Amino acid sequence: MNKRAGSAAEKTSTAPVLVNVVIPPLESPLTYELPEALRGSIEIGYRVEVPLGRRRAFGYVVSTQSADERPADTNSDFKIKSVLEDGEHLRCFDPLQLEFFTWIADYYGDSLSNVIDVAIPPAVPPKFERFVKLSGTAAPKLTGKAQAEVLKILSEQKEPLDLATLSRRVKGCARVLKGLEEKGLVQILSEELVDHHVSSEAIPQWAKSAVDLNAEQQRALHDIDAATRDKEFKAFILHGVTGSGKTEVYIEAIRQALERGQGALIIVPEIALTPQLIDRFRARLGNNLAVLHSALHKRSRWDSWRALLEGRCQVAIGARSGIFAPVPNLGLIVVDEEHESSYKQAEGLRYNARDLALVRAKLQNCSVVLGSATPSLESYLNAVKNKYTLISLPARHSSGSGLEISVVDLNRVKPWEMASRNISPQLAAALKDTLDRKEQSFLLYNRRGFASYLQCESCQATMDCPNCSVTLTFHKNQNSLQCHYCSLSLVVPEFCPSCRGSDGKSSAPLVQRGAGTEKIFEELETLFPTARISRLDRDSVADNDAYRRILNSVRDGSTDILVGTQMIAKGHDLPGVTLVGIVDCDVGLHMPDFRAGERVFQLLTQASGRAGRGDKAGLVLLQTRVPNHPSIAKTCDKDFRGFAEIELENRKSLGYPPFSRILRIVISSPNQEFGSQYARHLRALLDSSVQQRELPLSVLGPTVAPIARIRALWRWHFLVKGTSPSHLNQVMRDVSTHAPKSTQVRLVFDMDPQDLM
Ligand code: ADP
Ligand code: ZN
Ligand code: ZN
Repeated sequence: MNKRAGSAAEKTSTAPVLVNVVIPPLESPLTYELPEALRGSIEIGYRVEVPLGRRRAFGYVVSTQSADERPADTNSDFKIKSVLEDGEHLRCFDPLQLEFFTWIADYYGDSLSNVIDVAIPPAVPPKFERFVKLSGTAAPKLTGKAQAEVLKILSEQKEPLDLATLSRRVKGCARVLKGLEEKGLVQILSEELVDHHVSSEAIPQWAKSAVDLNAEQQRALHDIDAATRDKEFKAFILHGVTGSGKTEVYIEAIRQALERGQGALIIVPEIALTPQLIDRFRARLGNNLAVLHSALHKRSRWDSWRALLEGRCQVAIGARSGIFAPVPNLGLIVVDEEHESSYKQAEGLRYNARDLALVRAKLQNCSVVLGSATPSLESYLNAVKNKYTLISLPARHSSGSGLEISVVDLNRVKPWEMASRNISPQLAAALKDTLDRKEQSFLLYNRRGFASYLQCESCQATMDCPNCSVTLTFHKNQNSLQCHYCSLSLVVPEFCPSCRGSDGKSSAPLVQRGAGTEKIFEELETLFPTARISRLDRDSVADNDAYRRILNSVRDGSTDILVGTQMIAKGHDLPGVTLVGIVDCDVGLHMPDFRAGERVFQLLTQASGRAGRGDKAGLVLLQTRVPNHPSIAKTCDKDFRGFAEIELENRKSLGYPPFSRILRIVISSPNQEFGSQYARHLRALLDSSVQQRELPLSVLGPTVAPIARIRALWRWHFLVKGTSPSHLNQVMRDVSTHAPKSTQVRLVFDMDPQDLM
């Protein structure tokens, strides 16, 4: 699957003559000759321009050869082509990173070419801007008014003036400048434009420029720093309750590493990578910070990448793809909220950035810190087994006030007692108290839209997506029915389309079932007409600016109640919030996924952690119909370990991760019959691979995937379970080599899947 050319070690002291170049999407590297002029200046990690067939293409140098390594047996009509001398050649990655990329390709069963394509942001060639300044003092004869005018304008400038501005002020500026340049009166400079998006904005007042760590934080820092200094691989789980000051520990550990000249990498979930978090880091680390983010403009992203590559920045902060950042002299990797399933890429190269952090730390002999208030069971078990070092921060930094969590058992509230459809009298009273005290509330409801689905009152039919086997969500604001899987959006029908009477008319009405954030928002508006209420979910934040505006409105006190999906649960440090209400804890609890209970526990605990972060006490109310479920009861007890013990016991008895590893194979096809046959055939291939190699693996499937159809493709899956990833890897290779190719099916291999739907 992964054909690799020679490795970095083959480099010889004589300048290489041949380079092996991967040209995505081609899987295998091709060999090119370096023209004389480029020898010595191009090495592993460069993006070069090469001829490919009749066109020019970009590719990355992954290995090099000197002249005497040139293959001897090339037949005479085979001629190695040459890297284009007039092409664009940019350094794109550090040769040190190649081993990491190769590991990833092997583990996830992909090509090195695709890994590099995913890892490296698209290079943006440098852009130069031209500036003009006065030069020389001699005053030869000027010809014309225009020349005099240009000289006058320039003499008024302190800095060289950019050509674009000058052109706007003086007609025919280019010709005039040419004349002046010939006379030696002006000089035209060319300067590269670099996007200083991070450093140009002022650091806000609230961001602390220094803190004194408390005793527990200091102990954590000491251990992490000792390992970082030793330049040995060591992994830590920093288990600290929300608000215990984990972020402050990361920042100090990075500062100390920087003082020794070691670089650092911080990975945070996409959703937590807010300008506010970046501001916190900037306030303490200065402009040494390169931000990598898929939502950044292409040039900003490339400039950040290059700043690291060239050593101008030594710290990178990024979302999932930040794990590839070319941090110089890497000493420490931090993965914040390590339990987040969004660290796993769901498409294409299905890597998990959290897992890769450990791999990279091992390859580069550095320390790695996985931080969370709710560590994943995978990480926690490694700590229990002493593979990783567990550090605990058991108390909040500002613990004077405390956090109270209690359950509202909805079984005990009669429907007519509810303050509104979804808000209990207890939650309504707490909201009112909080408003009266001029404090702020967060309300979590982890579903978008207004109603989960529409159903016909007469024939009970639900409005389903025509392409997927899911119901359509009613979005009232946009007056549409939307599929959250294929993004289809339909006009809301007035009456049931399924049970039109024989006369072609029908009046069977559709009723709304289930709720969403829009509905909760509306209920709140009715209950508290004077409160200032905002909504935070994927529909309300079209872009980063909207996200920032909404969070800032909470920080500056202009929002009283923020209702939202899991987006409100993540990382935010907003001291004015004293009440968190979870409208329905049970959403997500009954998903056919062995991690469902763990995910709910994490979400509830994280959301709870948003309350009472300042000096006032926090209150959390959990509305539920299953108050004794461990995910809810243990959230209430603030007992991560208790939850982990129960859940690990379950997983062990069922042989699920972290007690096993899983390879998921998904088959999808537009043709139900064909797909189903293909899946059965694949089972035979799987069995023969397992038997021939005598691998201790169990194969489950094929079964129809929990979501049987997405985007008009029918779906089946296999779960292959084992204890060794290398066994799974062998099966993956066998099946992918021998599976019949067909345009009718799509085959996806997912190592360590997070998504089982
Ligand atoms: P976590 O990352 O564990 O959720 P944070 O690092 O965000 O916690 O800390 C919560 C709040 O407490 C932040 O406002 C942070 O600045 C503050 N804080 C944490 N540790 C200290 C400290 N030692 N001195 C002053 N403030 C601190
Ligand atoms: Zn009907
Ligand atoms: Zn759909």
